[in-house]
Amino acid sequence: MKKRGRENDEWDEPAARRGGKRRKPDAADDGAIETGAWGDVANVDPRDAAIVISIGSGRCRLFHEEREFDCMVPPELAKRQKSALAVGDRVVTDTSDGVCRLGGVLARRTVLSRPDPLNPRVQRLIAANIDVVIHVVSVKAPPLRPRLIDRFLIAIQRGGAQAAICVNKIDLLDDIERARELATLDPYRALGVPVIGCSVKAGEGIAELRALVEGKTCALVGHSGVGKSSILNALDERLDIATGELHRRGTGRHTTTASTLHDLGGGTYLIDTPGIREFGLWNLTLETLRDYFPEFAEPGEYCRFNDCTHLHEPGCAVKERAESGELSRARYDAYVRLAEDLSQPSR
Ligand code: GDP
Ligand code: ZN
Repeated sequence: MKKRGRENDEWDEPAARRGGKRRKPDAADDGAIETGAWGDVANVDPRDAAIVISIGSGRCRLFHEEREFDCMVPPELAKRQKSALAVGDRVVTDTSDGVCRLGGVLARRTVLSRPDPLNPRVQRLIAANIDVVIHVVSVKAPPLRPRLIDRFLIAIQRGGAQAAICVNKIDLLDDIERARELATLDPYRALGVPVIGCSVKAGEGIAELRALVEGKTCALVGHSGVGKSSILNALDERLDIATGELHRRGTGRHTTTASTLHDLGGGTYLIDTPGIREFGLWNLTLETLRDYFPEFAEPGEYCRFNDCTHLHEPGCAVKERAESGELSRARYDAYVRLAEDLSQPSR
């Protein structure tokens, strides 16, 4: 079991909120998510920009032209740093007075963000410009809970990145259990989300993960203890990230309390993120929620009512198909639970 009371717990989900306008799920377009540029960067080619590899208070560490260096973050940006600058950002520097200062942040292609635990109206950036976000889950320790996956997928898709699921620690299961556990994730496979069974311990699935991340910028997200650090080390042993109790208790040097970008060479970047328990449903409405269940669209055409929410209306084809097993019952149940969460003003 995970222990509470670590730094990572500040990532706890405070509230599900309603409100907001209908938005498409395929872009980082949620009002307060800052995808925008900062400074005079209109003509800067991202390939000429430095990349943010970690962020500290009032400064950040950058990587550019095979070199790592520190850079001061101007106060106006530093005071809203968690929502204005992210690991993975492409930036330009200003060294005119002999000190390396952040001069501009380029517009982001994608973001991964979550509501600030203290102020859910403010989005905190976890990472920027990610191609793929891998949601790492584990079996047994901690056990696989597919119902958490739906929230993660929504958060990932909202930021514009592609989602993948990695099920780690499958060495803890026998063949029968393994087949059964992995089958519970079939609905996600059907949606085109890659599902990779993996065991760092047995060296399984690592080649498949490596193929998935090759040449891309990928972030690993998930609860702490599922094996994110172990996976990063397995993908590249040079990383040598502390794993297990030591780093989770926060006594180790490499405590994962903020995101860090690792350059694996060949255009592959991996971002380590803090253990995230849950993503918020910030600014999500019943209407937008439906966008994240694309498998409901076709059967939804046969619902008696045009504006069927697929919750309690008579003649709902989505509900009927979930009951008959034509649609995934688990996905339908996830939809109902999320809809219920949305209808609670604050939790
Ligand atoms: P993180 O908090 O997500 O970064 O997780 P860690 O990488 O620190 O791993 C948490 C614990 O799970 C450690 O004790 C690891 O040794 C263990 N672990 C990681 N991967 C595996 C695996 O594939 N199989 C088993 N049995 N244990 C694993
Ligand atoms: Zn319906």
